[in-house]
Amino acid sequence: MSSTLIVGPPGSGKTRRILELARRRAAASERVTIIALPQQRADLLRRLGETPTLGVRVTDLQTLLYEVLEELGGVARIASVPARVAMVGAALRELYGEAAPGEAALYAGTLAELRRSGFEEVPVTGGRYQQRLREVDRVYRRLLGERGLIDLDDVRRLAALALEGGARWSDPPQHLMVDGYQAFNRMERRTLAAMAGSALSLTVSLPGLAPAPWTTRTPPEDLEALRRDLRIEKVEKLRAGAAPRFRLHAASSPSRELRDALAEVKICLQQGVDPHELALIVPDRAAARALLELGREYGLPLHDEHAASVLDTPQGRRFELLLGVRGRGYPPRDLLALASVYPGLELVAEALERRGLSGSSPVAALEALPVELAPLRDLLRETESPAPSLEAWLAYVERLMERAGCDRQPEAPELRVVAREVYALLPEANPAALIDWTRALLADLPAPRRSTPGVAVLEAEQASGRRFARTWLLGAQEGRYTLDESEEFFYSEEDRTLLGLERRMRGLASSVLYDALWRAPEVAVSYARSERGGERRAHRLLEALEAEPRPGAATTASPLELARLRPPPPETPPRYRRLEALRERRAWELARYAPCRLRGYLEGRVRPAETRPVYAARDREAARRKARQAAWSQQELPAQTDPAWAPGFRERVLRAVRRDLPPRPDLEGLVILGVLPLGEMLFRPHAHRLLRRGRLETLEVYLIGTGVKQLRDHRESMWLAAQLRASDEHRGLKLDFYAWDLQGEREPLHFTAGDLERAREELSGLRAALEAGDYSPVPGFHCRSCRFGDVCRET
Ligand code: SF4
Repeated sequence: MSSTLIVGPPGSGKTRRILELARRRAAASERVTIIALPQQRADLLRRLGETPTLGVRVTDLQTLLYEVLEELGGVARIASVPARVAMVGAALRELYGEAAPGEAALYAGTLAELRRSGFEEVPVTGGRYQQRLREVDRVYRRLLGERGLIDLDDVRRLAALALEGGARWSDPPQHLMVDGYQAFNRMERRTLAAMAGSALSLTVSLPGLAPAPWTTRTPPEDLEALRRDLRIEKVEKLRAGAAPRFRLHAASSPSRELRDALAEVKICLQQGVDPHELALIVPDRAAARALLELGREYGLPLHDEHAASVLDTPQGRRFELLLGVRGRGYPPRDLLALASVYPGLELVAEALERRGLSGSSPVAALEALPVELAPLRDLLRETESPAPSLEAWLAYVERLMERAGCDRQPEAPELRVVAREVYALLPEANPAALIDWTRALLADLPAPRRSTPGVAVLEAEQASGRRFARTWLLGAQEGRYTLDESEEFFYSEEDRTLLGLERRMRGLASSVLYDALWRAPEVAVSYARSERGGERRAHRLLEALEAEPRPGAATTASPLELARLRPPPPETPPRYRRLEALRERRAWELARYAPCRLRGYLEGRVRPAETRPVYAARDREAARRKARQAAWSQQELPAQTDPAWAPGFRERVLRAVRRDLPPRPDLEGLVILGVLPLGEMLFRPHAHRLLRRGRLETLEVYLIGTGVKQLRDHRESMWLAAQLRASDEHRGLKLDFYAWDLQGEREPLHFTAGDLERAREELSGLRAALEAGDYSPVPGFHCRSCRFGDVCRET
């Protein structure tokens, strides 16, 4: 057998070389099997299909090994991932009396990794919980045997054992080629070596070292281990190809970043680019969901490449909600989410929300609600805890599946199996435990995804080994494209090195971004400058790139964006045509539209503008009293009291003296909480007065706050100061500004010319926009406190 290792950085053409070799072999009527990552399969088939080729099979390692095992007669029923977690939970319960789903998942995860790495038995190096893990594994294996199951991750070990033991595989590939991997663990190397034993050649590709400061996940020691275990005879080193053309874009908000990328994708599709040639690479699942959601608004064919679980389907999410709603006490939020399957429940939810109640509130409180309660009663009845018998439990699950719409989905049989497995494994569990376990296992239950052709939306790991004509790499900030580099619970880093387990903390986080960047010759990299957490910067490894304007950003690419720009058809009733223009004179009402006009508009829908006088008469009188009292308290006392007097007598004398004090002259002419007209606008300073001393007229304006710094965010005060300084009407006046809360000392305020100029521009810009009916969103840090984020989707 000849064996070759192809080494080259991302984008150097490793996959192209493998396909070339495969075609050449196939042309000579030899059988080739390419082992690739599951997500690569469609891509490789498409590239192979460019030159019709017979005799090349593309598969993944797990499928191939399962076939080997099946042929060699060693296959039993495979325990699914949820079943594994449930059985590990049962083992924990048997050994230690109780188990929570999270704990079982932790144990199951480490056991799976040990199996994948080729350990027959749990190794014990002295760690605190390793002995416990070994015990759990012992009981888990016994449970597997009793049920005639094998673990999903035992497939590799059993197949390798059979092949190493000399078992004959009836139709082994003549040429075995492996592509797309970033690294191989011990078990993978062992299974490849075992399979290659009966082949004529083995060809493996791996990325080599990355130029500093970038990293890849293939350090020299891994390459060495691979050469040793696979007895590699020849190493083919590929040179780095031309670097992709990178464009870096900084968007004002995460939503803007997604919208700009989608606009560019749409332009590309309109130009006739094949959707399969394009990919949107995102850092995590949350970003992928947001992108897919926006993709619907843009009418784009996007293909979610994430391996879906039941919880990714609307029916699965509803089922999970129904299982948990009783435990959460039927909050209005859950009732609203369930309104699609209980028509009318939204009205009950709104009524409950208004009164601060929930669906589990006392019956008398519910009966008093002015809405039809039948949907809530149906929900309460159907989600009532089942009796602790298998029939009652299965009937309960079936009822909720039917209500959620899961019973007609392809994953329905699996759901029923999980319900049975949970009951079988936790026979003495109460209904609450059954529900908790079922909910916990749903995330691991795969849901078949309907394949829709389109532009791939994928996380960085799913892009590995693939090639596109253009990619958009979103969220390129520090800390978003990472590997899970944290210490493992059962084995420390030292233990892992000792045992030959893959180390967790190798400082290779940047390898994810490096690999993802090299997936196409044209890459648009972007990030959002501001997010809920504060200001953001591009990833430090992209600092050499200069952010440039986005060509697609100015393009209107969704019907919602178009609706804002294009005049509606003439037959549209006036109230639907455009938002009404606003001519607002009152600065305090105008201030609600700054800094975001959309937020001000929406605020106005839920809290209409004040139409009453600015302040109630009694508020004004209270404020005046407060000011008088403050002035009076600061008055110098005319009489000294003798310290020798008894305290009670001294207090009575002081009271009598204060009673006869005149009001402080300083309050003369002061208008407290009154309106100050200025040109077209009305302002509402805390207090103001016009003083005449000889020929000098002074306008004193008292603003709320403790200094200019605090006032910078108080729009109304800044606008008032700016307007007064610019006003012709007040040109001959001396203007004095103070910060004063009507008590204590006044503090003079001195605004800079820049502050006032910015405030003046903001006021005139805002008025012009509102008078044109423009209520555009203005995203920024203020979005963090905005309650309309879901409506405007700019955050
Ligand atoms: S989320 Fe931000 S941009 Fe959207 S309305 Fe609120 S403040 Fe304006």
